[in-house]
Amino acid sequence: MAATAAHHHVLIIGSGPAGLTAAIYTARANLAPLVIEGEPSSTTDQPGGQLMLTTEVENFPGFPEGIMGPELMGRFREQAGRFGATFLTEKVARVDFSARPLRVWTHDKEFTADSIIVATGAQSLMLGLPRETDLVGHGVSTCATCDGFFFRGKEIAVVGGGDSAVEEAVFLTKFASKVTMIHRRDELRASKIMRDRAHANEKIDFKWNSQVVELKGDAQLEGIVLKDTVTGQLSDLNVSGLFIAIGHQPNTKLFSGVLDMEDSGYLLTRTGSSYTNVPGVFACGDVQDHTYRQAITAAGSGCMAAIDCERWLENQH
Ligand code: NAP
Repeated sequence: MAATAAHHHVLIIGSGPAGLTAAIYTARANLAPLVIEGEPSSTTDQPGGQLMLTTEVENFPGFPEGIMGPELMGRFREQAGRFGATFLTEKVARVDFSARPLRVWTHDKEFTADSIIVATGAQSLMLGLPRETDLVGHGVSTCATCDGFFFRGKEIAVVGGGDSAVEEAVFLTKFASKVTMIHRRDELRASKIMRDRAHANEKIDFKWNSQVVELKGDAQLEGIVLKDTVTGQLSDLNVSGLFIAIGHQPNTKLFSGVLDMEDSGYLLTRTGSSYTNVPGVFACGDVQDHTYRQAITAAGSGCMAAIDCERWLENQH
């Protein structure tokens, strides 16, 4: 543990679109934020959130030709750095928000801060199949809004039986020639209105009591193998896209018992703002949003958090 803790006016935890937008804004407000950006994962060589797992992003305004997810995050980071944000490529291990200054620890360093912006994001739950994460952006997707457009006229599948899976399947019928919903049980968990919508859609087919057990194709998804959960029988399904919609997990373990959160783990913020229940601690991006989950909405809420934070700091002096 470091002998003396480095002090910052603003400490930002997380480096996706929300955290980095908060960094751009607070840096431009001369608050010299430190971004504790996380560590590279097993699938990415840089931190930067879910966009590091995406290939082309076509719906981020300002990039009419599209831009690769990692390049977009690289640009966000460069822009924050240009105005004086600094970065630490480590993970936060522990926080203490019970007294002033607020305290944050990585594995071997301690920091104190007047204010903290939490932008730790969320992750899509995955099936846990071999090469699943390698194929994200190459036929496997966790976001229909982001990637549906790439599957025009193609046959695709959606895994899951909840509201998200139905919503994604219905949305995907705008592009795909056929959408097969794969569910591990024989009835959807989704609400009645969503179930009715799925059943009424002629482009949606169902594979009940089925689990995906294999992803075929090397560089690009070429099909999947299903296992019948009742008979154990295996079957091939020729699809060029697989959308995984089995739920999301916000990255909030660190804040358990520290910040108010929903039962599902999403942080609670005061309506129309980024204020959490702890004064001086703000939350933005997917860690507090289970509805929109888009890079642009995360960036927008990162801007809100920076402005809330800046004004809150001003009022302290
Ligand atoms: P969810 O309700 O937890 O549903 C997850 C689905 O994935 C379930 O059908 C579950 O199967 C299946 N599943 C989980 N793990 C699996 C695995 N390893 N392999 C195969 N299947 C697996 O999650 P969600 O659909 O993301 O919804 C989350 C919350 O947001 C819900 O409260 C939902 O109502 C809400 N939401 C609402 C709307 C809307 O109203 N428009 C849209 C989206 C989400 P089982 O059913 O067998 O457990």
